[in-house]
Amino acid sequence: MSDSGHSKSTAGFANVVSERVAAERHALARHWLRRLNDLLTVEPNEVFPSEQLLDHIPALIGEIAAYLRAPADQEIAANTVVIEKARQLGSLRYEQRASVHQLLREYEILADILEAFVTEETERLGLRPSARECFELLRRLTRASGILMRTTVDTFVAEYMKAIEDRNERLKAFNRMASHELRTPIGTLVFAATALEHAEVRADPARLEKVSAAITTNAQRLAWLVETLQRVTRLTDRLDTPSEQTIDVATIAGEVARQLAEMASSRNVRIIVDTHLPEVNLDPARLELALMNLVANAIKYSDPEKADPFVEITSPTLPDAAESECVICVRDNGLGIPEANRAAIFDRFFRAHAHMDAELGVTGWGLGLAITADCVQAMGGRIECESVVGEGSRFFIRLPVKPSRGAK
Ligand code: ADP
Repeated sequence: MSDSGHSKSTAGFANVVSERVAAERHALARHWLRRLNDLLTVEPNEVFPSEQLLDHIPALIGEIAAYLRAPADQEIAANTVVIEKARQLGSLRYEQRASVHQLLREYEILADILEAFVTEETERLGLRPSARECFELLRRLTRASGILMRTTVDTFVAEYMKAIEDRNERLKAFNRMASHELRTPIGTLVFAATALEHAEVRADPARLEKVSAAITTNAQRLAWLVETLQRVTRLTDRLDTPSEQTIDVATIAGEVARQLAEMASSRNVRIIVDTHLPEVNLDPARLELALMNLVANAIKYSDPEKADPFVEITSPTLPDAAESECVICVRDNGLGIPEANRAAIFDRFFRAHAHMDAELGVTGWGLGLAITADCVQAMGGRIECESVVGEGSRFFIRLPVKPSRGAK
């Protein structure tokens, strides 16, 4: 826009500035993102979410620009579009695991950038606003970013609280289930111990055998329960560092298939292990546990309606995979996971099909995928899930390792 396009009178000051801010909203958003990139330390594995933010921030700036020239009695808080954008930004930043501190900083930087831009444009275009107009514009700028910041932070905190409440609920459900699971074998053990106090039981070999079998089974069940709980705690312990070695994924996948063969055949599920699996350098115990959980889930949540239920372990080449990344995929043609539950399945105690337990003849604690995600994370990788209800699911384990001597 050339200087001659504006009268240097003060009347159009807010309009001119508003127009300039709106016209440059994409450049301003990019500038903001560059400043953030310089200021915030970004974890090497964490992808800085620039794309989505670059959709949101220009829209927010555009709305701020409109507010700068809005009638005096109009409040930015009444602009539902911009308030909704600020809310969406709160949800987005929550999903991206930002912190409140980060959000506040982001808005502070945005306000600084807008203020600097307005000042520079005012000088560049030779505008001569009155002191009153200057103050009014700055007041609006501050007010707009203040309200938007509060809306974003409120949404962020609300999402955070909801996640804590959900987690609490799941923890309570888990406690109920764990105490129920523990109470049953303990009750049987107490009953058996009491029975052994009776001389006639001790004198009857058949009854004695029954009681001792009940003691063994229930003691084993208790040991298994305690071991599972310990494993959950141990796996999340950061001191539990993985021991790396060169391993053949095919060997581990084969071992998983062998251990789960009985479970699979009882549910009529075929386990397919691709012959083209790489050799990698990582912790075999963790990889085995991760694959074990994924394949066991594919069997548990297989679709009884399908003619040929299967689960397959492959190492696909994904178009977006980095050169140094090794991808292992566990694919099934099972029940699938509803879109609304997809993000929560890696949370502890979350179960998407709990209502179908009796029908499917399965039980679970909602810990398998949380443990799997911990394992994958401890190996420096990440896990992703794609799923279509009625068609099946694909879990991708992406590991930042080079195949040790090329894929076999
Ligand atoms: P669970 O003990 O319930 O199996 P997980 O943590 O292993 O717990 O899985 C969490 C939930 O994710 C399961 O309850 C199930 O609803 C869903 N899920 C996991 N894997 C699959 C799969 N392959 N197909 C369909 N649903 C799955």
